[in-house]
This record gives sequence, structure tokens and C-alpha cells, in this order.
Amino acid sequence: MSAIQSRIIAQCDSYSARNYHPLPIVIAEGKGVWVWDTDGRRYLDCLSAYSALNQGHRHPRIIAALTEQAGRVTLTSRAFHNDRMGPFLEKLCRVAGMDMALPMNTGVEAVETAVKLVRKWGYTVKGVHDGRAEIIVCSNNFHGRTTTAISASSEPAYRDGFGPFTPGFVKVPFGDADAIRAAVTPDTVAVLIEPIQGEGGIVIPPDGYLAEVRRICDEAQVLLALDEIQTGLGRTGHLFCYQHEAEAAPDVLIVGKALGGGVYPVSAVLASRDLLGLFQPGDHGSTFGGNPLAAAVGEAALDVILDEALADRSRTLGDHLMRQLRAINSTQVAEIRGRGLFVGVEIRPEAGPARHYCERLMDLGVLVKETREQVIRIAPPLVITTEEIDWMVAQFRAVL
Ligand SMILES: *Cc1c(COP(=O)(O)O)cnc(C)c1O
Repeated sequence: MSAIQSRIIAQCDSYSARNYHPLPIVIAEGKGVWVWDTDGRRYLDCLSAYSALNQGHRHPRIIAALTEQAGRVTLTSRAFHNDRMGPFLEKLCRVAGMDMALPMNTGVEAVETAVKLVRKWGYTVKGVHDGRAEIIVCSNNFHGRTTTAISASSEPAYRDGFGPFTPGFVKVPFGDADAIRAAVTPDTVAVLIEPIQGEGGIVIPPDGYLAEVRRICDEAQVLLALDEIQTGLGRTGHLFCYQHEAEAAPDVLIVGKALGGGVYPVSAVLASRDLLGLFQPGDHGSTFGGNPLAAAVGEAALDVILDEALADRSRTLGDHLMRQLRAINSTQVAEIRGRGLFVGVEIRPEAGPARHYCERLMDLGVLVKETREQVIRIAPPLVITTEEIDWMVAQFRAVL
């Protein structure tokens, strides 16, 4: 590492709270699937800011939308209408097959919004007694870092030292539909799950799981809320991950990350008119939610995903990537699993922690990050080419 990079990292260590443990690289520039450090060394970004960069760094259409809108108006607040939010939300609703959307900024804010929405429905429509609503979530989940989101978490690292927690969450094992059926009570208002647990280590549930959960929800008058913040918008080879199964469409769909096209935080909760229509003025809000800059960026981010068929790309290239990785046949690897360009390489415990492999890969110009102790997550921008994947795999071969 150069003196410049050491100095910048030391500066961050003294002025930034240490709530992250980043790899020792200082990025100064990005374009498409590539980033450059302060010394001009080039790296292939195979994390994509946790899938917030599905369209790649600084996609020209998204940057054009950002700068064009920045030259007109950027923030109005929802006290007034702006001319960008309507077109954006109409497009988002059409793409997702939903009636209405509520725009927020970060992913966890959209999760919070969804929690409030399903509770409101529980009290006003289902008839649950006030203060009793229960939401079923899965252990090993990740829904963000607010007090309510960590209240739904089972991860000690996220929770320890941060109680008391928001009540009303019931945790069951992921991938076990019978456990959900057994956990449903008359007070259950929703099941909130990720179609694939991303932060949890790219955990893919058994085939038919989501459709079965959908059936359980329908039978018990319970809403199905899917957190597709990381899996959505093309990442897993469909526009939304639930589309891998027929009959698994949610009542409430939560999106974020790539909705901001890698440049600006944009998230949303989507649902039917019956559901989102329950919110009245004053029930919920956000100063920046639905602002014209976010709407312009969000619309361009969707256009790029659709026009460049990024979901199809993800499916084809993801299959290629997994085939190539499996062909390495390394004894260090316990399992390679994934859907589209959302792939986990699980390292055997006796072969050391995944972090060690991420550091070696960084030295060879591939940026990946461990999730949990033993899993290397590979999630490059969906605009990656076959040649770039083959180069990435060559670096994996060298390290494994
Ligand atoms: C990243 C993520 C969140 C939180 O999004 P933020 O923008 O970091 O608040 C919530 N749920 C899932 C599944 C995520 O991957």
C-alpha cells in the first residue's frame, strides 16, 4: 500500500466511527465494473456496493439524468408536488406489477415503512387488537440497522448493546415453511422475508418455499412482505427474485439499492391500492423521500435495467460464472451456490476465514467481501462481460 493510501486510512481511523471493517484499499474513481485506487491501480468490483451498483459505476444515462435534474430542481419536500415523482412511481409500479408506491431513501427506511404498513392493515382491516400485531421473520435475516430492523434480527453482532428492542417479531428458521405455518396466530399480520438471504451468506431456500409461504399467508389472512432490496432489480436473473417461482408474488414489495442506480439513495415500498391506500396524510413521511433528483435517478436506473436486459444478462452470466468456479475444484471450497450473478463461495472452516481470501483477491485486482465468516459473496455489476468474468475466475483459481 502506498503512503497516500496509508495516510487516508489513518485519517479515517481517527475521524470515522469504526462501525465497518473495510479492506485496505482507497478507491478514487469508478467506471462500469472497474474502480481505481489513489495509486491508479485497477480493480474489478465484484461487490457492487451490496448490489446498489447493478448498472455499474457512473452509468452515462444515470449520470445524465442526475446532472440534468440537478440543473433544474433537486428538492421540494412533499409539502408541494414536483414534476418527477409521478412519472417515476408510475414506471416503478408498472415494472413491479403493483398499484402504488411509497418512496423513501435508504433500504431500512423502506423496511420500516413496510412494518408500519402491515401493522396498520392488521389493526384497521384484519381486526387485530391494538398493540398486539405480530410479524413473522426468519433467523439469519438482514433487514437493515435501525432499532426496529435489529429487533427483527437474530444476529448477536447486530443486537448486542442496543436494546430494548421493538416487540412484535416472531423468528422462525429460514427455508422452513412448516415453521411459519406453526408460528401463525390470530395476531399475525405479515411474514417478512428475503427471497434469498444475502447478508446471511447467500442462503437459498428450498424450491417451492416462497410459493408455500404465499399459500400459508393466503389461508391465514396474513400479508406476505418481501425484502428485495438486495435481490431485486435484476440481481438474481429475474427482475425480482420471487419470480423464480410461480405463484409467489408478495402483497408488499420492498426495493432499494439498485433503484438508486449507484448514485443516490432511492427506496420504495410497493403494494396494492387497498394496502397503501390505508396511509393518511400525517401517518408517515420523509423530507427527502420522492424528491425530484431521486425520482430522475430512479427512473433512469429502471430504464437501464430494462433496456439493457440486465436480468437476462445476470441469468446467463451467472450460470457461466458458477460453472467456471466449480471447475476450479478447490479443496478449500465447501460449496458454491447462487442465482444469476448473486453467488456465494463457502470456504471450509479448516481452510481459514473468508476474509483472508478476500484480501488475497484484492492483491490480484478483484474486490469481493466476506459475508458471515466463511462466505465470499460475488455480485459484480450486471453490465460485466464474459471476458471480465473469465478474468475474475482466473484470479479465484490463483487464490483458491
Ligand atoms: C442492504 C439491505 C437493507 C438495508 O438497506 P440500507 O440502504 O443499507 O438501509 C435491508 N434489507 C436487505 C435485504 C438489504 O440487503
